[in-house]
Amino acid sequence: MVLVADLTVFRYHNGPFDPQNWAVPLQAVGWLEHPHQFATGNVGTAVISKLKAMVEQTRSTYPQNNFRGVKSCSLCIAANLPDPGPIWSQENIFVPGVGVVYVSPGGIPHYVETHLYLPPVDFLEAVSKCPNCGSNEYRKALRSANRGNEPPLEVFKPYVFTGSKNRGRKG
Ligand SMILES: [Zn+2]
Repeated sequence: MVLVADLTVFRYHNGPFDPQNWAVPLQAVGWLEHPHQFATGNVGTAVISKLKAMVEQTRSTYPQNNFRGVKSCSLCIAANLPDPGPIWSQENIFVPGVGVVYVSPGGIPHYVETHLYLPPVDFLEAVSKCPNCGSNEYRKALRSANRGNEPPLEVFKPYVFTGSKNRGRKG
C-alpha cells in the first residue's frame, strides 16, 4: 500500500490527489504503514473528534473523492490487536494550511486514537481551524490556502480503471 513520510509532496492519484493541480504544496500527513516508524504523542480528544467529523463531512460532500477500497490497519495486524474492521473506507481529507494543503487518509483518526500517532503540529493547528468540510467556509479556506485559486475538488472526474477494458468514453 501507500507509504509516504509526513509533509512530503507526492502524487497519489489524478485530480485533487495530483500536486500539479494545486498552487501550493500538497503535503501528505498520516499515511502510516507497518513496519515504518512514526512520531507518537498525546493529541487532544477535541482534535480526534474533529478529524472523525471531517472524514464524515468529506464522505458526504465529496463522494467523488472516494475511490479507494476499504483498508484494514497494518499496525493493528502487526501488533496482534483485535481487528478494528475497516478503518479507512475510501475517503481522504484535504486540510487547508498556511501556504500548504494537507491530504490525509480516512484512517488518520484511528491512527491517532489507537496508535498514538502524533501528526505534525502545523497540521494539528490546521485541523482545529478547519471549517466544516461540507460548508462554503471550507471551500473558501481551501481557496485561500491555495493562493486564491479554486481547489481542484470539483474538476475531479470519477476514476475509471484503464488497461483491461475500454468503457467507450472518449475525451
Ligand atoms: Zn490500527
